Amino acid sequence: MKVRTDFICELNQKKLWLRREDLIKEKVKGNKFRKLKYNLIEAKKNNSRSILTFGGAFSNHLYATALSGKINHIKTYGVVRGNEWKEKINESQTLINCVKYGMTLIFVSREIFKKKNGKDFWKIIKLNPSKFYVIPEGGTNELALKGCLEMLSENDYVYDVICCPVGTGGTIAGLIKSSITKQKVIGFSALNNNSLKSEIDKYTDKKKWILNDQYTFGGYAKSNLELIYFINNFKKKFNIQLDPIYTGKMLFGIFDLINKNKWSWGKNILIFHTGGKQGIEGFNKRQIKKGLSCII
Ligand SMILES: *Cc1c(COP(=O)(O)O)cnc(C)c1O
Repeated sequence: MKVRTDFICELNQKKLWLRREDLIKEKVKGNKFRKLKYNLIEAKKNNSRSILTFGGAFSNHLYATALSGKINHIKTYGVVRGNEWKEKINESQTLINCVKYGMTLIFVSREIFKKKNGKDFWKIIKLNPSKFYVIPEGGTNELALKGCLEMLSENDYVYDVICCPVGTGGTIAGLIKSSITKQKVIGFSALNNNSLKSEIDKYTDKKKWILNDQYTFGGYAKSNLELIYFINNFKKKFNIQLDPIYTGKMLFGIFDLINKNKWSWGKNILIFHTGGKQGIEGFNKRQIKKGLSCII
């Protein structure tokens, strides 16, 4: 699959290119398409069992799974973190869309959600795991990595640095695996998780990568005025929409490091726009509720 690459700008003698995974022709955009691709094939092989997965009320992964299920005629189930959401589905555009695409939502408390990998979990939600093709939260598993490997090809060997945002680490792990020795992969963490680095290490022996956690903006889905200003300004300047959860934080980080002369990894930089635009509407709704600035 050929994906468009946009030259953004030259900054302090560094050339920045944006790989537009957010514009692929598939209905499910961005890295979630990559991560689900082989999982969907596997789920179909397994006699079209229903897919069950996990996520928060604004999760791109839940959204992408629901939409993929609809397109591929596979029944989907989504376990949602926080049972308070049961009463206010209409406050999350993500959940509204999941329901619209036919996903059955199962709401559990944050405590139960934490235990989702334990064996008692299935008793609590009163379902039988053998009836489902289960995909972990965020969609990261070996088949997701296989899909993400395809994000990089030999045409990309001209770039000496590869950048992507990091949530659960599946996407960066795929990119690290498919990168070549002269390339360095830099991941920008979108959340605070001390075990993220060792999670990524589980998937690859390669060492030519770095996880930057200076631009999490306080944690998952957290933001500030500076970030929102950057995203809005980026759109004005380059006519490219970034999302506030992942790609906005990464690009903020890249620009900040280069502007402060703290970039020491190479001049030809390929940056992955991993999508995530479905989350903007919900993000703005929460911002308005709090009286804060919106993504325009
Ligand atoms: C899920 C997501 C990520 C993070 O991917 P991981 O494989 O979980 O690290 C990055 N960007 C966007 C837009 C996402 O939706």
